[in-house]
Amino acid sequence: MPDQLRLDIEMQGELETLWASVLDHVEAELGQEAIASWLQDAVPVALEGGTFVLGVPNSTARAWVEKKYARRLAAALSDLQGEPLRLEVVVHRATKRAARSTTSPTPAPPASVSAAPPPRPAVSAAFAPIPLNEKYTFENFVVGQSNRFAHAAAAAVADQPGKEYNPLFLYGGVGLGKTHLLQAIGHELLVRNPHARVAYVSGETFTSHFITSLRDRKAEEFRRAYRSVDIWLVDDIQFIADKSSTKEEFFHTFNELYLTNRQVVLASDRAPRELRLMEDRLRTRLEAGLMVEILPPELEMRVAILQRRAAQEGADVPPDVLYQIACTVTDSTRVLEAALIRMLALASLTRSSVTPELAARALGAFVQESRVAGISLLSIQRAVCEYFKISEQEVIGPRRDRQTALARQVAMYLMRELTRKSLVEIGELFGGKTHSTVIYSCGKLEKELKTDAGLAASVKELRAKIAASSRE
Ligand code: ADP
Ligand code: MG
Repeated sequence: MPDQLRLDIEMQGELETLWASVLDHVEAELGQEAIASWLQDAVPVALEGGTFVLGVPNSTARAWVEKKYARRLAAALSDLQGEPLRLEVVVHRATKRAARSTTSPTPAPPASVSAAPPPRPAVSAAFAPIPLNEKYTFENFVVGQSNRFAHAAAAAVADQPGKEYNPLFLYGGVGLGKTHLLQAIGHELLVRNPHARVAYVSGETFTSHFITSLRDRKAEEFRRAYRSVDIWLVDDIQFIADKSSTKEEFFHTFNELYLTNRQVVLASDRAPRELRLMEDRLRTRLEAGLMVEILPPELEMRVAILQRRAAQEGADVPPDVLYQIACTVTDSTRVLEAALIRMLALASLTRSSVTPELAARALGAFVQESRVAGISLLSIQRAVCEYFKISEQEVIGPRRDRQTALARQVAMYLMRELTRKSLVEIGELFGGKTHSTVIYSCGKLEKELKTDAGLAASVKELRAKIAASSRE
């Protein structure tokens, strides 16, 4: 693929992610109707010279979006991008609506600007499940002693959903492949039956959907969306454990699906008995199914995972280096992969080949970091503000100048890296940002860290400082 084309494709992907985050960001304020009617079919066209160009299907839509939403959208864009952005709305042929114009007509033009937008389509996007990550397939899953049973159970479920192992409950530490397996089931079922209604959600999404349904009085729609699925894959259900009304709703949904023989697969980072979710009636149900623990990968498996991952990255890593990494990082697969990626980044930044020395350099920092514990959000907020010389209020407030925005991204990134706080908790600290904003900010910073060695060094220094102060 020519370089320019690849760049263009990457750029387009980034634009789309940014736009999706914007929609997420403004949904609560503008309402789902506004989004479904006017913004769902808009496409991001370009981001150049501080202007974000948005394509909409026709001039009516353009006028409406400009008049009603432009200001809010520009604010969200600036917020997410961490720099002031203008919004330009253009009529663009390649909008999603234009592409399927025969099936979905353009919304009727507004009678007056203050009139309510037309009604939403019957099935609301508000309660849509999370799309599957295409990398999380059975083919890409390395099987070893530590996850053999979990893998077999997942494969059996994909083979015969709703039959033998219902519900299936996977549990184990962070980064051991629960999400991967859950989604692999989803992929496999869809390969076998493209019409299967596979819904993958996390405890967090379920909670936020449930809250939305209460807030917007959409209980019926929520139930319809959730109870019409064939296969329900629920990730990170520990998130629901402390929320009593959500828990209740979760139980009802679960029950309804279970009693009608639909397959439910749950994943949690805690063992069933440690979950406060476990009221008796739910416990009884779960015990009727299968509970499988995933353990941390053993050495051979860690090597195998690294090998596969290196191949995916198109990198040639000598076996002794793979062993070296596998011996140093022993806990989670995610950390293991991160160590490999960091080493490859270091190799490419310093234009050196992958040797045991290079690996030692890359891993040195890593080993130290993975020992960090007991760090609070507050201590990170404080350290970041001190470093960027801004006040603690500014970093969590609405300011959008470059420096503050960068400090904010760094703070979110370090909070996610160094603490066990959820994205929702981190978002809350920053004035109620959504978890997708936090994800987006962290992703953006991660990208910058790859290209900006100065910034990477600053973040590294900060991280070491925070770690050091937590050990005092
Ligand atoms: P969890 O949900 O248990 O926290 P994930 O499923 O998100 O963990 O896994 C973390 C990362 O490690 C993902 O990139 C995943 O693809 C990878 N991973 C985990 N286990 C395996 C495995 N057995 N084979 C290949 N990749 C794995
Ligand atoms: Mg997970």
